[in-house]
Amino acid sequence: MNIFDTHFHLDPADDVDGIIHRANKCGVEWLLVAGTTIKNTKWLLNKITEFPNVKTAIGVHPHEAINFTNLDLFEKNVSHPSVKAIGEIGLDYFYDNSPTELQINVFKSFLNFANATKLPVIIHCRDAFEDCYNVIKQNLNDDIRFVIHCFTGSLDWAEKFIDLGGYLSFNGILTFKNSEEIRAVLKHVPKNRILFETDSPYLAPIPYRGKKNEPAYLIHVIEKAAETLKIPIDELAEISTKNAKTFYNIK
Ligand SMILES: [Zn+2]
Ligand SMILES: [Zn+2]
Repeated sequence: MNIFDTHFHLDPADDVDGIIHRANKCGVEWLLVAGTTIKNTKWLLNKITEFPNVKTAIGVHPHEAINFTNLDLFEKNVSHPSVKAIGEIGLDYFYDNSPTELQINVFKSFLNFANATKLPVIIHCRDAFEDCYNVIKQNLNDDIRFVIHCFTGSLDWAEKFIDLGGYLSFNGILTFKNSEEIRAVLKHVPKNRILFETDSPYLAPIPYRGKKNEPAYLIHVIEKAAETLKIPIDELAEISTKNAKTFYNIK
């Protein structure tokens, strides 16, 4: 099995070598670390050069929007060989850690940065579907790929983002007992627009729910998705890895 964890997080306190080693042992050959804070960007890029199959995205999570001042740091580091995307960026009205207006402005800055660098975008969208949709539609160029990561919206929203050219990414939530609606959405997503992620250390899939998540557990998400779609797991693994490589432009 050759699977791709398209979105997870690392922190300087993590046992990075152990996390990547365990992932590789479980068939996770490719990984992409999503950036969240300004403060960890440099650490991440330095650390990750040791691992050729681990790629990065750089950006500022909506929770951190309040700490954003300008794109200098990101412009300086965007040509680092591991950087394959801009993210995660977006809007989060559930936690609302940063004021809405500010979140929208930071989101727009990074979408314009993606237009300029031609890199794909990883979008975090929680309880903010209407605004996310409008901001993407009005600011992101048509030729720039984007994914709504950790998708938890309705079928209606799934269809709107797909029509706009988006990918949808699914994680451990898909395995939860009460996630019937998300499994129903998955069945309607064109197969070439599906990505999988762990979003670790958060949202561990069953049977690890409630524990600290890590990329090695990705197979449980794909297993549930294959069962939902009634296709062999190997086939879905192959399709989703191909999608991820296309999305991130990895040969
Ligand atoms: Zn997120
Ligand atoms: Zn994330």
